[in-house]
Amino acid sequence: MPAEIIDGKAFAETVRARVAGHVTQLRAEQGLTPGLAVVLVGEDPASQVYVRNKGIQTKESGMASFEHRLPAETPEAALLGLIGELNSDPAVHGILVQLPLPAHLNADLVINAIAPEKDVDGFHILNVGRLNTGQKSMVPCTPLGCLMLLRDRLGDLSGLNAVVLGRSNIVGKPMASLLLRDSCTVTVAHSRTRDLPDVCRNADILVAAVGRPRMVPGDWIKPGATVIDVGINRVPAPEKGEGKTRLVGDVDFDSAVEVAGAITPVPGGVGPMTIACLLANTLTACCRANGLPEPE
Ligand code: NDP
Repeated sequence: MPAEIIDGKAFAETVRARVAGHVTQLRAEQGLTPGLAVVLVGEDPASQVYVRNKGIQTKESGMASFEHRLPAETPEAALLGLIGELNSDPAVHGILVQLPLPAHLNADLVINAIAPEKDVDGFHILNVGRLNTGQKSMVPCTPLGCLMLLRDRLGDLSGLNAVVLGRSNIVGKPMASLLLRDSCTVTVAHSRTRDLPDVCRNADILVAAVGRPRMVPGDWIKPGATVIDVGINRVPAPEKGEGKTRLVGDVDFDSAVEVAGAITPVPGGVGPMTIACLLANTLTACCRANGLPEPE
């Protein structure tokens, strides 16, 4: 029987609606409007699309959206100056610096200049440390979205074998931390992993975050496993016309869907959850900044 298709788009809509409800309540009862500042340096086309979508969805949820678009040649000191201003602006509860940054900017330095309580991406070294030591933190949006989808489908994750394919700081490592926090037995696989197909075949939960189109075929998947495909890869799509492209994941959907118990599609799986979680994190940051209980 083919796998259940996990509808990340619909799930993300419910998350955004819940956030919007809390925002309305915050404004009515506390006179507060959560604010998210997004900083984009340079002209990277994919980043421009992400930033535009973030701005639209932030406003749709009733929050204030502040966009700062800086030229690619912006000096580091100027970017750090802007972050300093946003850190001390009481209307800004969340700050996101869109990655990747142009090569002359030190991304670690820039991210660690964001006030940790406003670091809605969860990439600041303090938030990374807090997540890994079980303390209250900001949780990176993409892994948080994956975790929500997994909990929704599987309930208690305790004792399940989870394989995270990829060890990046923005997806793989925080994903592994979250699954460990939920008492999974976690394996993190990467480009040096031996016998990768066998490692994957052991997974009750397989999270693929490699950035290689359709790398994971169906015969790497344990029958009935839950497969979360984080990959977003643009590939040629001659069937749509000359020069056309389309998005595919890191998992070969057509063969995986015959084996898995459930799987996220690309697009329409993890992608929409990322922005929904960004909005949820901004709401959380606003509540924490004002000493209010955190929304569920
Ligand atoms: P990175 O390039 O930072 O990391 C890729 C990871 O995959 C690395 O750990 C690398 O191993 C591993 N890897 C690469 N090739 C292989 C291989 N042949 N076998 C095993 N492991 C391999 O990518 P990101 O984590 O930033 O992103 C991963 C994917 O997720 C991308 O497609 C990206 O577009 C997508 N993404 C989607 C988001 C969303 O909102 N849905 C958000 C963020 C990312 P090693 O460390 O050994 O080099």
